[in-house]
Amino acid sequence: MPSVLWFRRDLRRHDNPALLAALDAARTDGDGEVLPLFVLDNALWTPSGDPRRAWLVRSLHALDSSLGSALVVRHGDPAVVVPEVAKALGARTVHIAADFGPYGVRRDASVAEALAADGRELATTGSPYAVAPGRVRKGDGTPYRVYTPFYRAWAAHGWRRPAADPDAWPEWVRRTHGPLHSQGIPAEPGLGGMALPEAGEDAARARWETFRADSLASYGDLRDRADLAATSGLSVHLKWGEIHPRTLLAELGDAAGHEVFRKELAWREFYADVLHQAPASARTWLDERFAGMEHDHGSTADDRFEAWTRGETGFPFVDAGMRQLLAEGWVHNRVRMVVASFLVKDLHLEWQRGARWFMTNLRDADLASNQHGWQWVAGSGTDAAPYFRIFNPVAQGQRFDPDGDYVRRYVPELRGIEGGAVHEPWKAPLLAPDYPAPIVDHREEREESLRRYAALKR
Ligand SMILES: Cc1cc2nc3c(=O)[nH]c(=O)nc-3n(C[C@H](O)[C@H](O)[C@H](O)COP(=O)(O)OP(=O)(O)OC[C@H]3O[C@@H](n4cnc5c(N)ncnc54)[C@H](O)[C@@H]3O)c2cc1C
Repeated sequence: MPSVLWFRRDLRRHDNPALLAALDAARTDGDGEVLPLFVLDNALWTPSGDPRRAWLVRSLHALDSSLGSALVVRHGDPAVVVPEVAKALGARTVHIAADFGPYGVRRDASVAEALAADGRELATTGSPYAVAPGRVRKGDGTPYRVYTPFYRAWAAHGWRRPAADPDAWPEWVRRTHGPLHSQGIPAEPGLGGMALPEAGEDAARARWETFRADSLASYGDLRDRADLAATSGLSVHLKWGEIHPRTLLAELGDAAGHEVFRKELAWREFYADVLHQAPASARTWLDERFAGMEHDHGSTADDRFEAWTRGETGFPFVDAGMRQLLAEGWVHNRVRMVVASFLVKDLHLEWQRGARWFMTNLRDADLASNQHGWQWVAGSGTDAAPYFRIFNPVAQGQRFDPDGDYVRRYVPELRGIEGGAVHEPWKAPLLAPDYPAPIVDHREEREESLRRYAALKR
């Protein structure tokens, strides 16, 4: 009896335990064939931004071609589509890797229920994480709220070795679908000139190998430098499961750069864990006291938000980051922190507003990492930066883009200013006549933020 492998955020063939489980089940039950399925679910597709949709489309093409064009794509509600496919195929089990996001958990519960009503089973093997969310707990059984002890417990817990490749490739792929014809991978949305790197499992592997050879050793020293290509660029591949973190962890050693990289992967795992334990934190302040913080609303707040989205705040490092987002659908981590801090602490806007803009425009948009990255900066999240530590957008630029190359790359109006002087264009107005003046006074807004924070504490 064939089985179904329902791909979701695990768009790869290698190191895929759910695939092995599907194959095992199919062999135990009979002919050993597995139908690879992807369900285009409007609940996820419609609210996604175009960079995320475009990446998914490209990744599905890559997966389909690695499966010999056998991927069946069906459109609709998974709680209807998945049982329909299983029934038409005569499959007893549908195999998945667990999804721990708030929507994924609800969706999988309804799919499991619908399958069970028809005498079939949703079988879960593995997850997009090295250690599944919920598994690492404090001694008293409660979840960690602070990263460093989480990291220690996570590292001590450990993870499995990468899964073996399925043997007898590709004979096990089900090719005769009968009524289950693929409805096709959707057309790619227009990206208005945004350039995306290559999607898919092979591209992910190649990216990892290049990073490992060229940058991993110096990662600990250089990863904060916005002007250098010193980070892995793997976030989008991890987001879609084109490569599994276990594959990366298995190839890390004990050198300093390796350890720092392992810790960064653990942030992704930590935030997934936190969101799983507190699903409402995708929308509201994890530290509920911050709901009482005074935020700005109205037309001036809206104008400032618009200037931030366009990269026209008059602060070069902030503007370069916001324009990198529009040009590439990706922003360097240090710059994400600075632009987020600027929105919350210089413009006094709710973090949710900025987080929504990121979710729409990031190619690596991931609910757990994004919402909790924002909450960390806003001071309302886990292990948060203390609220009173407010990034100075000019000093951050001078420190992490010392020669100004990052700013000039994304802000052409500033290309007339050489070196690090580009971070203070108001000192050379004749060299950048088309660049806007700062929309706020950082020193004043910093004081205002601290005043609001003191009021909240009272
Ligand atoms: C406000 C804000 C929003 C963010 N939104 C997202 C998001 O939507 N999706 C996303 O994947 N990351 C997000 N991050 C985390 C981080 O900025 C990106 O993961 C990183 O910049 C991706 O580039 P990279 O792959 O080259 O990272 P590397 O430096 O090469 O890091 C390796 C991997 O570790 C993980 N990682 C590193 N830093 C973090 C972190 N702080 N939190 C969680 N995981 C981390 C990522 O999976 C990353 O690919 C956000 C951070 C902030 C401050």
